[in-house]
Amino acid sequence: MNPRIDRLRDSLEEPLLVSAPANVVYLTGFSSSNAALLVEPERVQLFSDFRYAEAAREVDGVEFVETKRGLCAALAELLSGRIGFEAAAISYRQHASLHAGGLELVPRYGLVEALRAVKDEGEVDKIRRAAEITSQAFERFAEERFTGRSERDLAWTLEQLFHELGAHGPAFESIVAAGPNGARPHSRPTDRVIGPGETIVIDAGAQVDGYKADCTRTFAAGLLPEQLKEAYDACLAGQLAGLEGMQPGVSSVDADAAARNVIEAAGFGEKFGHGLGHGVGLEVHEAPRVSKQSQDALAANNVVTVEPGVYLEGVGGIRIEDLVVVREGGPEILTTSSKELVTVS
Ligand code: ZN
Ligand code: ZN
Repeated sequence: MNPRIDRLRDSLEEPLLVSAPANVVYLTGFSSSNAALLVEPERVQLFSDFRYAEAAREVDGVEFVETKRGLCAALAELLSGRIGFEAAAISYRQHASLHAGGLELVPRYGLVEALRAVKDEGEVDKIRRAAEITSQAFERFAEERFTGRSERDLAWTLEQLFHELGAHGPAFESIVAAGPNGARPHSRPTDRVIGPGETIVIDAGAQVDGYKADCTRTFAAGLLPEQLKEAYDACLAGQLAGLEGMQPGVSSVDADAAARNVIEAAGFGEKFGHGLGHGVGLEVHEAPRVSKQSQDALAANNVVTVEPGVYLEGVGGIRIEDLVVVREGGPEILTTSSKELVTVS
């Protein structure tokens, strides 16, 4: 009836209590900050409180059980026996509260996340739409004046472009990081005013029906010093090599190395201190991880980013990020705005 739940059942050794909000959305379409799903061989129960009861009763294929607001305490009274739980989604306090009810609790990791990593074409369509809006917004954004304006002001302009182009919202807080701020991969927009000769790292995405896009481009405010130009060329060459490595069956370690080797050869290896990419879908960071440390391998219909960066402390940063669908025969690139160095005024 529900193919996602059927596939999950195939991987279960005991009933699973699903409580990560994105996993509940994925399996049922039901969005709530306080819900859990018990997946058993013959039935699925959905637990949530009064605030969500009306929406929960409309979910097909589940038995809805209204609980008090303290969900785990309620579950401790309602459930019994051996139950798997999502160990990465439950706090120590919630675990203690379930445990007090005498349940035999088995920690489980990544079961629903592994299903979510391989997108169906309906999900790809939503991500593709979010990426199209993102690409159009980046192209229009390049026509803005940058020098003399603050990062915060420009981030707001970009989010307005997402809205005008039909996004349901930003996928995450947009990053606009200029000059030395760009050397911090997860910098947040500040009131710092952009000046000439700086790079501006712009990392943002639109979302459509809960599915996210994630894209980074680095613009130049006027002419760049030689060091930043070289860093840009190295980053772009690494990014293009990384795209070539996005093939089903390739290990995450090898996919990461495809880009990293090129950046190392250009002399910037030490300045690329994070992994090459990550899965994107209902969440902006999800499975698979593409990095030196990852155990994952790429599979067809993974949606992943390819985002090498070069970060020069005190000077500036470069990052170039595309969102791609892993396909037999080569990646489908969803983010299409120019990757040649764009000079803004
Ligand atoms: Zn990003
Ligand atoms: Zn990313």
